[in-house]
Amino acid sequence: MAFDLESYRERAEGFGEELSREYYRHLAGHKPDLEIERIYDSYAELFSRESVAALRELAASSQDGDEGRRLAYLLHFGFDGLVGLETRAEAAELAGLEASLEVDAGDGPMPYRAVVIEQANEADAERRKALEEARNAVLEERLTPIYRRAIERAHEICGELGWPSYVDAYEDLRGVDLRALRDQTGQFLDDTEQSYGPVVDAELERAGLPALGELRRSDLPRFFRAEELDGMFPAERLIESFEATLSGLGIDLTRQANVHLDTEARPTKSPRAFCSTPRVPDEIYLVIAPHGGRDDYGALFHEGGHTEHYANTSEGLEFEFRQLGDNSVTESFAFLMELIASDPNWLEEKLGIADPGPAVEHTRAFRLVMMRRYAAKLAYELELHGASADLEAMPARYEDHLSRAVRVPWPGASWLADVDDGFYAACYLRAWALETHWRSALRERFGERWFSTPEAGEWLRGLWRHGQRLNADELLAETLGQELDFTRLARTL
Ligand SMILES: [Zn+2]
Repeated sequence: MAFDLESYRERAEGFGEELSREYYRHLAGHKPDLEIERIYDSYAELFSRESVAALRELAASSQDGDEGRRLAYLLHFGFDGLVGLETRAEAAELAGLEASLEVDAGDGPMPYRAVVIEQANEADAERRKALEEARNAVLEERLTPIYRRAIERAHEICGELGWPSYVDAYEDLRGVDLRALRDQTGQFLDDTEQSYGPVVDAELERAGLPALGELRRSDLPRFFRAEELDGMFPAERLIESFEATLSGLGIDLTRQANVHLDTEARPTKSPRAFCSTPRVPDEIYLVIAPHGGRDDYGALFHEGGHTEHYANTSEGLEFEFRQLGDNSVTESFAFLMELIASDPNWLEEKLGIADPGPAVEHTRAFRLVMMRRYAAKLAYELELHGASADLEAMPARYEDHLSRAVRVPWPGASWLADVDDGFYAACYLRAWALETHWRSALRERFGERWFSTPEAGEWLRGLWRHGQRLNADELLAETLGQELDFTRLARTL
């Protein structure tokens, strides 16, 4: 049967809509199960080898320009779906186990997924360590073998479709030179080598944690939790301050009919804020269960950045440009909004904090840890997914990359659990760099308090209208005439 591109596009849009709504309903606590297998089954033809091969042929023979972009984004979508479909048994098994397994650090069982939250709230370093060891034992014994089956399957599929490796497949699909990106982010590691220790140690000291060299991985959730900053970030000011921030940018959240702000409490609602986009720009959910703290503010503002990007995407764009494309773009706007919530001027103005220094410095240290961790993850994932990867050697390679970048002895146990599908780590890294371009442009044009000027909001809406038609490099070149610059990112830290 001949491949019908137009009907493929329609079905792909329908699939995305159903899947996204299902995630929303489950994570917002409207329904207990996440029934995605049913959705995959009813759209299975989208992810058949025949469909993906047909898209690949069309993409390879298409010209540059929008039609080429649409086909490239569609091929990426189809291939992700093919891998997802062929590893769905493993994904379901992992989700089921992660939700049901228990971990016992010697003082009674607790749910597997609760360990990180428990570590964040645990003042005793020895108990945090015991929790980590107990969790890692369960991970290695019960989950890693399943992760391994899934990754081996994904590697095989790349081979079956004629790519030399998973790395080659995703360089093609993303249109990003991942190896060049690794060189840039490796340079970022070098550029931040000197400042990293002093910046992070000062914050560890403030948090009452041991310095780098003594610090353990099990202490990081405690560090990120930043309990000492809780007083600055009360739960009851969270939504109000977010709305006020948008209002400063000339955006009235209460009058955005396409944005559904879901703040209602439900027993099974995700504790973490998230954004779901069944139909861009017409049906966007921003979901939050406010509990306060620096992290909660960061999460809501981050998801709020995605929300406004999608909500302001031009409805006249093709499906591929509204719903697919380079997620570095949407992540850059999410990071831009996230950082507003730790801007010293914002903290004074919106939360009335007399001395915002500690919150600002904590965020700087947190960002440095995260960016160095992701730079190391990218370098590691390129080895893991390379043509000549020896999986047996990978736990040690993972330990090595992460320990060196974060300067914390890093357990090898999560060598597969900590891997993002399809090199999503590259999106975060590119987004961090892209965000610094947006932020300095906003400062130049509208001043330090750009987030309180409607003109800045107007400028951002102009960017958001593009959806993800252009990738990060193209959007930056077209709007600011610049190239992604990781040395600029290192300088801002
Ligand atoms: Zn995000």
